[in-house]
Amino acid sequence: MAAIGGRAADAEEAPTLISDLFRAINDRIRELKDAPTGECAFICECEDEACMHVLRMTIPEYDAAREDPAQHAVLPGHQRPAVQDVVLRRDRFVVVKNVLRQGGGQ
Ligand SMILES: [Zn+2]
Repeated sequence: MAAIGGRAADAEEAPTLISDLFRAINDRIRELKDAPTGECAFICECEDEACMHVLRMTIPEYDAAREDPAQHAVLPGHQRPAVQDVVLRRDRFVVVKNVLRQGGGQ
């Protein structure tokens, strides 16, 4: 007789932003892709938690977008102009940078 124990532990630390969660997933995708050939599928890093759309970037494009930790790669149209500046615009994706809000702060 075998007891099957399966307990799903809650994550101890929840990501503060949904985009950070998707970025973590994308980092894993990135780690698996050493050869910068062709386009890879990454997950849109926009702030919409329901968005699970895939965008296609090359590894150099992704690395360039990630040079600044405040930047995220999102699908065109998924940027939020009120809190994000577009730093790079392509047909396949847009790189946005979070900007500090007046009176806000995190
Ligand atoms: Zn999105």
